[in-house]
Amino acid sequence: MIFKVISFKLILLLFIIKFDRVKAQTCKIELIDIKTKTKVCNPLNLIRGKITCNKLKPPYSNNLSRNITAKGLDFQQSWPINSLNEFKAIVKLKKGINKISFTYVYKNENAKLVLELNYEENLDLDPLRLGIFASKDSSFTFDMDKESKSLGDKNNLDSAIKRIQTAGLLAQALTSDNLNHHGYGRKTFRLELDKNYLPKIHVLKSELTRKQLIDLYLNDKAFEFFDHIHDTIRKSTVYKNETKYDKNRMVFGLIIIDAFYDKQLDKAVLHHALGNGFIEPRLGVFGSHLLHAWPESWNQVNRFFDERNLDFSQLTNDDSPTKMKALNTGIGAFMHEIGHAYTLDHSGLGIMSRDWSLNKFFFSVYKKESKYYPVKHYTDEDNTGWKNTDAEILSNHEHINNSLGLSSIVGNSKWKASDSEHYFVKLNEKTWHEIIDGILKFKFDFVSDINQVVILYAADRKFYISLDSQNAKFGSTKNDINAVFKTGTWVKN
Ligand SMILES: [Zn+2]
Repeated sequence: MIFKVISFKLILLLFIIKFDRVKAQTCKIELIDIKTKTKVCNPLNLIRGKITCNKLKPPYSNNLSRNITAKGLDFQQSWPINSLNEFKAIVKLKKGINKISFTYVYKNENAKLVLELNYEENLDLDPLRLGIFASKDSSFTFDMDKESKSLGDKNNLDSAIKRIQTAGLLAQALTSDNLNHHGYGRKTFRLELDKNYLPKIHVLKSELTRKQLIDLYLNDKAFEFFDHIHDTIRKSTVYKNETKYDKNRMVFGLIIIDAFYDKQLDKAVLHHALGNGFIEPRLGVFGSHLLHAWPESWNQVNRFFDERNLDFSQLTNDDSPTKMKALNTGIGAFMHEIGHAYTLDHSGLGIMSRDWSLNKFFFSVYKKESKYYPVKHYTDEDNTGWKNTDAEILSNHEHINNSLGLSSIVGNSKWKASDSEHYFVKLNEKTWHEIIDGILKFKFDFVSDINQVVILYAADRKFYISLDSQNAKFGSTKNDINAVFKTGTWVKN
């Protein structure tokens, strides 16, 4: 009898185990910050999401062995999922309506989701011109470690072009994601795309030899170097032949291909990280010293997760100890300089801060390491990307959003400088904008309006403005607003 009860229980147990094994676990794919039928204006898109299951069985391992597969019109690509069930995927669109199917299968768990995206390019926008700045006698090579070369990586011009094209498309995708995340819609800068949706890379050749450029560099003449790149642009055909857009408002993002690691000086010679949107044409430049880590194509998924340490006897240490960090911080730093070219200033957060280490995990689901988070993955989204004022300025920039125009200047209470197109404009009871030459420069919180003196505060830049019937002044504390803008008298209307 006892035997019979045991055997009955055993059969029941086996049945339960078997039943459990066969029954598929229903899971859901949730996309973050994007809905189906969204309109986008760029061909590569960064999609962030999460898997949720009824009976989640944590902990999953951190080895990124689970994947989500995205399939579109002419691609299929898998992307890892982290221990928090999060993923980032890059999807490639063609013009028009694209149906992207996401599929998740892991043991008895599965989920599927279809996302419809409508990609339309806005050809009225003046594009970001990507390019390579090279010496007269450039070898058109860039630094690369022996290990990468032995694995088949190339460091020639063709490869540099592919890497810059990919970085441009990724930066464009990240900008679209970030601006949308801040509530401004899926806006981003335009690139000059060919029929394969790859951006044009202009090769701008200097009149100076590599040696002459190195002499300039070693004599600490960063600004002469910057001026020289401007001269080179003004002499180039891309600049001279431009007829559709205002030449002086063109924005260039250039990689200095001749930059190289000098072991004795222990630095990247000819690498400059410079950007300015108020010197024309607008320009951001960066060295080629991190190109070795950048992918040649958006679907080189392994690059986004490549944790190999860099060999600093062969490569520059630019705060990026691993390949994946050199990729993210390198593209982030290039975006930082292009951000300056779009007139952005430094801020304490994200891309426009000088802490490039914040950019390490743009395109992967790794998160910032911290002693408080023994697990390698945790949410760090709030400190990376285009932040607050930067996102707002970009979303209003004439090269990113030509639908707004300068409507905020018309009809609102404003102060204007007599000598230039420099305005402080009241948007509402709380917010003011500073606009220079039609570009939103800063956003201010209204502080007070006492005895005909308006006080404003730029919260993320931490400085004050005072406006009276004659002057616009600025200062670092409320009791010390004494520095005067030298743009003539200021008129209120
Ligand atoms: Zn900067």
